[in-house]
Amino acid sequence: MILIGNGVSPGIAVGKIHIHGKFHIEPEKGFCAGGEERSQILHYETVKQLAIDELEKIRLNIEKLDSEKAGIFKAHQDIADDIVINEEIHNKILKEHWNAEWAVYKVYDTFLQMVRNAPDPLIAQRASDFEDVCNRILRIMLGIKDDMLSKINEPVIIAACDLLPSDTASMDKVKILAILTETGGATSHSAIIAKSYGIPAVLGINGLMETVKQGQLVTVNAIDGTVNTEPDNTYIKEHILKRDTFLSSKELTEAFRNREGRTKDNVKIDIDINITSAAKQELDAEKYVDSVGLFRTEFLYMGRDTLPSEKEQLNHYKKVLECFKNRPVVLRTVDIGGDKVLSSLDLPKEENPFMGNRAIRFCFNYPDIFKTQIRAALRASVYGNLWLMLPMISSLEDIRKAKDFINSVREELKNEGKPFGEIKTGIIIEIPSIALIVNQAVKEVDFASIGTNDLCQYLCAADRMNSAVETYYQSYHPAMFTVINNVIKTFNKAGKPISVCGEMASDPLVTPVLIGFGIRKLSMGAAAVPVIKRALSDFTVKQAEQIAKKVLKFSTASEVEKYLTRQIAPALI
Ligand code: PEP
Ligand code: MG
Repeated sequence: MILIGNGVSPGIAVGKIHIHGKFHIEPEKGFCAGGEERSQILHYETVKQLAIDELEKIRLNIEKLDSEKAGIFKAHQDIADDIVINEEIHNKILKEHWNAEWAVYKVYDTFLQMVRNAPDPLIAQRASDFEDVCNRILRIMLGIKDDMLSKINEPVIIAACDLLPSDTASMDKVKILAILTETGGATSHSAIIAKSYGIPAVLGINGLMETVKQGQLVTVNAIDGTVNTEPDNTYIKEHILKRDTFLSSKELTEAFRNREGRTKDNVKIDIDINITSAAKQELDAEKYVDSVGLFRTEFLYMGRDTLPSEKEQLNHYKKVLECFKNRPVVLRTVDIGGDKVLSSLDLPKEENPFMGNRAIRFCFNYPDIFKTQIRAALRASVYGNLWLMLPMISSLEDIRKAKDFINSVREELKNEGKPFGEIKTGIIIEIPSIALIVNQAVKEVDFASIGTNDLCQYLCAADRMNSAVETYYQSYHPAMFTVINNVIKTFNKAGKPISVCGEMASDPLVTPVLIGFGIRKLSMGAAAVPVIKRALSDFTVKQAEQIAKKVLKFSTASEVEKYLTRQIAPALI
């Protein structure tokens, strides 16, 4: 039988299934027998302490391998010890006469739903942590042994309904050949962990748990998202060959990471990095990229109760600028709104947040917040080569208003005697209205970068977060290529830097098209760097121009995709 899901972390595997039965119990509503309330509270307190001790043991083990992941268990200890949750559980036992199991289950469920419905996705994601802690307490309460992935001692393919943070953080990644789950999409916790460990993963497989059995031999293709539960010997042999080809191709690709981005005929292409902070893991890319093509600064504002101060921002920006020395750092001003919300600000709810008060519009509405960021950025500019990029620009008025604002901040700093350096000011081209008057916009800015993620959602009128309209979100829509080509040609003609920093920059299928249009600068996440450097090495600029010319002639996205798939060597995709 062939099962189908979403291949979220590419790879190929053959191995035996290990069913990971997520411990999940919904206890029956139960009450204390008369006068038993105190002993139920004592029972809960004892079990809670056992859960905290268990978490401490896991935390100490993981600390030696990965201190960041160990943090998950510290957070779980904090949840188990949370005063409000504890008080609520005590109350339910004392006043409602619930038994300990039911009280734990119901109180955690209330908190879990509250967190899950939080507007900030970073907070909403923490719901699984509450579920995890609740399950741990109930499991101990019911005397059930833990089915820990860390205890697996032979290589297996994990099959689970879903994986919880503690499952993935404690598992020994060397023993996990692949991950299969019934739930979970590309941005789920399981997907993120699988991708960061390079473990093949197929998620969202309908009927997985009903179909597979413990120890069953299966083949997994996490490139096309298929699982064969009854492979015969010939199929297995072919699959092992495929796996080995994939692994050696992956190794070959990785070898490109430290090389320069160059086409087959040796034309240099700048490969830049997209970052979200000044954290060491992100700045490590400095060794193998040309510059920072997109610093998404809004992440400094998210998941916290207060706004970052000027000094705090100055320190972050300084760190990045110093790391890259005289190489450009494209700092995008805060892009709040859309799917990115702030817990430090109670912003009015909008019907269509992606079309609403987002990014530069938010900044114009909250000039104090914008001013703090511009002051910090200008002051940091003395430490390196700062390029300031404005998001969600839809008109020339937006550009002029933002530039006037920046100039007034310059004046203010001058009057205060605070030093600042020379900067370039540019825009991210992601709204069709500005892309269509690019011949005028180009005169107003020093540079631009094409934000293909938003450009596609606004051009195709398909919400990038709404999977129900996924098929309308067509990156290969001919309109996308017409607009992108025009923007690139216009900036190149004006002799001003132009790059692509949306996801299209990390799609090897499109690399020759962008180069053929005239792009010489691409910015992407760290994982895509070797992939794109390898893709570049496979064609000359002349070949790219021919491919680009052909792409402009197609009328549908699927025609484009079919054509590009034929042009690019399968190993590069
Ligand atoms: C884009 O829209 O392409 C982009 C790079 O910005 P973000 O994904 O942060 O909106
Ligand atoms: Mg964008």
